Amino acid sequence: MLPDLTEALQQRKQAGLYRLRPVLEGPQSPHVTIEGRDFLAFCSNDYLGLANHPALIAAVAEGAQRYGVGSGASHLISGHSRAHHELEEALAAFVGLPRALLFSTGYMANMAVVTALAGREDAIFADRLNHASLNDAALLTRARFIRYPHLDLDVLARQLEATTARYRLVITDAVFSMDGDTAPVAELLALCRRFDAWLLVDDAHGFGVLGEQGRGCLYYPQQVERDVPNLIYMATLGKAAGVSGAFVAAQAPVIETLIQHGRTYGYTTAAPPLLAHTLLTSLQLIRQDVWRRERLVRLIALLRQKLQTLPWPLLPSETPIQPLLAGENQEAVRLDRALCERGIRVPAIRPPTVPQGMARLRISLSAAHTEADVEQLSVALHELAGC
Ligand SMILES: *Cc1c(COP(=O)(O)O)cnc(C)c1O
Repeated sequence: MLPDLTEALQQRKQAGLYRLRPVLEGPQSPHVTIEGRDFLAFCSNDYLGLANHPALIAAVAEGAQRYGVGSGASHLISGHSRAHHELEEALAAFVGLPRALLFSTGYMANMAVVTALAGREDAIFADRLNHASLNDAALLTRARFIRYPHLDLDVLARQLEATTARYRLVITDAVFSMDGDTAPVAELLALCRRFDAWLLVDDAHGFGVLGEQGRGCLYYPQQVERDVPNLIYMATLGKAAGVSGAFVAAQAPVIETLIQHGRTYGYTTAAPPLLAHTLLTSLQLIRQDVWRRERLVRLIALLRQKLQTLPWPLLPSETPIQPLLAGENQEAVRLDRALCERGIRVPAIRPPTVPQGMARLRISLSAAHTEADVEQLSVALHELAGC
């Protein structure tokens, strides 16, 4: 096997697909130190700039004083603390659904929901550009796995109509992680009700960012009718919330089913209670600091205006994820490297994460960026374009 692995790695390098891990010396921020060099960075999902917030650092210390460090067991045995419990109640109230359940990561939350709700007799319908964790989960269920073209609700309607499966589960990213565009959640929900299907929305990139008080995709662009049985909401807590973890919110029977049958819920040690304690403070900041979302909106508009004369198009996006389409892998990598030389980090995203010929720079903005940061990126990109 070893020679095969070496050979495959070599080929990956030649194809411009080899992944490296830059080592950060300090906290997540628009200004990071990598191997002793300072960079202006546009590559984190810390959209509100909370990952290094003093109030959260203080909450971690307070949480450790109160609860210690490790949770010691799974939630089902003795790892479910007061902090976890309070956070679940606060999250359910915040997104406006009856119950919520915490998970250690978003990947695990998606695994639990999809595998607990769908089996061999069922059918899962998925947007082609969904996050890998949703696809992996769907494959594990052994349900029929049917993908529809990105945001094509007409095709989805025909697929739903044609199915004879016992249960139908439609799964979608709310904000597509490599494109930054959004799914029409209200329309999807209406379609699902018409065909007696369930809808799982993964709001990893919308929670904290979109909607009034950052309540997420169920509040953006308008409030979605939430008093329906077939809606399952999932969001992560390591992106805009600045900490770690994820939660699922839905009607009580769904949440109880996840507690009983979710394998990535029951067969894993609960996340440290100090993280849940910290997330209670994070939730307050998300709700109160309206200026963070206002600043993001201004930075997004500024970036789009500054970059519109470049030879590489920006994909349509109203969210902090602003992809600049480079096309071929080597071109994306060239831009990534040239920006690096100028002290700016923007990651090149290549297949299989995105389709062939659609390699891009994934610019992500944070409320911690300044207008001068955006200006600096714009100047560097115009230099590289020779315009
Ligand atoms: C990041 C992400 C996840 C995974 O969440 P983690 O908490 O990082 O495991 C799931 N879905 C989407 C759309 C994501 O962007």
